[in-house]
Amino acid sequence: MIRYEFVDSAIRDEDLHPDSFFDRERKLAKDFIDDLEKPHTIDPCPICGSPRNEILFKKWGFPYAICPKSWTIGLASLPNENIMQEYFRHSELSDFRASRKYQDEVSKKRKDLWENQLGWIEGRVSRYIGNEKYTVADWECRFAGWIDFLKTAGFKDKLFVQEPFAPINENTNDIEETDIVLLIDVLQREAKPLQLLKRIAKKVKPGGLLITTCRSGSGFDVLTLQGNSENIFPMDHIFLPSPQGMEFLLNEAGFEVLELATPGLLDMKYVQNAGENIPKNQYFLRYIIEQRDELLLERMQGFLQRNNLSSHIRCVARKK
Ligand SMILES: [Zn+2]
Repeated sequence: MIRYEFVDSAIRDEDLHPDSFFDRERKLAKDFIDDLEKPHTIDPCPICGSPRNEILFKKWGFPYAICPKSWTIGLASLPNENIMQEYFRHSELSDFRASRKYQDEVSKKRKDLWENQLGWIEGRVSRYIGNEKYTVADWECRFAGWIDFLKTAGFKDKLFVQEPFAPINENTNDIEETDIVLLIDVLQREAKPLQLLKRIAKKVKPGGLLITTCRSGSGFDVLTLQGNSENIFPMDHIFLPSPQGMEFLLNEAGFEVLELATPGLLDMKYVQNAGENIPKNQYFLRYIIEQRDELLLERMQGFLQRNNLSSHIRCVARKK
């Protein structure tokens, strides 16, 4: 079996060190969030509508609630559209992310990840629809380097770039119906994921594919580290579906799930790196980490992976 080093394309713990780009990114996010009024209400689950009563943790003053039906985790109170627009499109943070320096740094760091990801996508396309060339739409990308990568894809005929973030300026307005939609690490920052997926579904031909990746709230490191996780924060992480939540959501939007896995390799690493930040009452975990047994950690990660308990979802769905 080929094991891919598969990780989130957002900030990672090991990227965080003083003076790093990612440390600055996180600080700008925190500055923005610190200025906002903190919510005191809990909205129902954004995908199934179940009332939510349980708060898993607070990050920078913003509570994250659990859906009792699917263990999907998300901001307890959904931010309004203006705040989201500001955070993602018109803030010091968004300017920083759009800067040449930042984009270059990401392209350098993510090169292997993107190669890997493209290889995975190619494999899925070939398995589920064939080996021709297809129209492809990528939604809400914020890394210019990834779009450059996509342009080299063997399965691509036309590429539509939908609702991208600066500095990408190739937004395709008159998108045709497409064979394949790519939604890479986008769902986690959606306040209304169902609306987005329904909008996307309208543009995919029946039988066409939606290929998506997303952080999962039911993953090991998220449930373990909770508010002490360095890489889960508002507004970059608004909605963190469990595998069950993801499947429910895709069905509602008119897709049939063909495969869903959590191939993450880093949950144990995240927890191990958290060190003193592991919540004190996680005795079992603290005990395991203190054994300093790399093989044991690897075996645990294998267990998480095989049982869809890791915190990054990869999913392929077919338009009904
Ligand atoms: Zn729910």
